[in-house]
Amino acid sequence: MESIWHKTIQLPQFPQLKGDVSTDVLVIGGGMAGLLCAYQLKKAGVDCVVAERKRIASGITGNTTAKVTCQHGLIYSKLAKKGGLEAAKLYLQANEEALSEYRRLCAENPCDFEEHSHTVYSRQDLHALEEELAVLSKLNYPAELAGGLPLPFPTIGGIRFPRQAQFHPLKFLSGIVGNLTIYENTPVQSLSKTEAVTEHGRIHANAVVVATHFPFLNKHGSYFLKLYQQRSYVLALENAPIPEEMYLDAQENGLSFRSWGDILLLGGGGHRTGKQGGGCA
Ligand SMILES: Cc1cc2nc3c(=O)[nH]c(=O)nc-3n(C[C@H](O)[C@H](O)[C@H](O)COP(=O)(O)OP(=O)(O)OC[C@H]3O[C@@H](n4cnc5c(N)ncnc54)[C@H](O)[C@@H]3O)c2cc1C
Repeated sequence: MESIWHKTIQLPQFPQLKGDVSTDVLVIGGGMAGLLCAYQLKKAGVDCVVAERKRIASGITGNTTAKVTCQHGLIYSKLAKKGGLEAAKLYLQANEEALSEYRRLCAENPCDFEEHSHTVYSRQDLHALEEELAVLSKLNYPAELAGGLPLPFPTIGGIRFPRQAQFHPLKFLSGIVGNLTIYENTPVQSLSKTEAVTEHGRIHANAVVVATHFPFLNKHGSYFLKLYQQRSYVLALENAPIPEEMYLDAQENGLSFRSWGDILLLGGGGHRTGKQGGGCA
């Protein structure tokens, strides 16, 4: 099934690697992470090549909800409990920097970028919302407790962050990739130190960034033993009520809401692959 993003834009195409090349940095994987990494390297004057297994943005990036927010569930109270206020502060700082960099990049690359507030809502746990707000106020962040949310089921309210964002991820990337050296249909089969082997050529690099989302190398870190795959879903719905802001359930198996023009993007139903989902009622 093709995502609404892929349906509404043709991304530029890039050749397959044929022969050997040399570069300072090889980025493996042409999703949001790899392409942004290559873009920033290039901007800093570093010679860089991206090798993508299929087409760019053919992985998760082409199927994302594409909200750009500093709010990932009730993360700040969790971080403060686990690592102290300093950990929550660092997380907020990193996310605010990322959000403002997206604002800057989206101004240069038209991509339906819009700013809206974002609210993490709860259906029953007011105490969890109050705890989150208490941590955020210690961090001097202008979040507020919001009530009367216009969602199609009862909630006890939510924590609202001002000036978060949403965009069309593939319109964004089509602007970003203009000056990059990218090889599509070029899966990296193996790495020997910093030399990559592909079907029709080798890439010699001084450094390698693996941005394949799920690591494809089994030697380093034994990640295949530590990670598991998860799946979640987004429906693009016409003729549905359009929310003015963005929403996310504080519970991991809840729903996510955003608009794109007059289309509602409704996310949810996440589950570990091969296991039955918990539903999102
Ligand atoms: C339903 C859903 C909704 C989401 N909503 C949001 C959201 O609202 N906001 C948000 O911030 N995040 C969201 N996310 C998460 C976000 O979309 C991902 O974190 C992000 O797109 C991951 O980008 P990536 O570049 O790491 O991975 P990918 O986009 O998967 O890119 C990895 C690339 O590596 C390539 N590759 C793999 N192996 C090789 C190899 N051996 N050689 C060469 N290339 C290889 C793949 O083909 C792929 O193109 C959502 C995710 C899902 C599933």
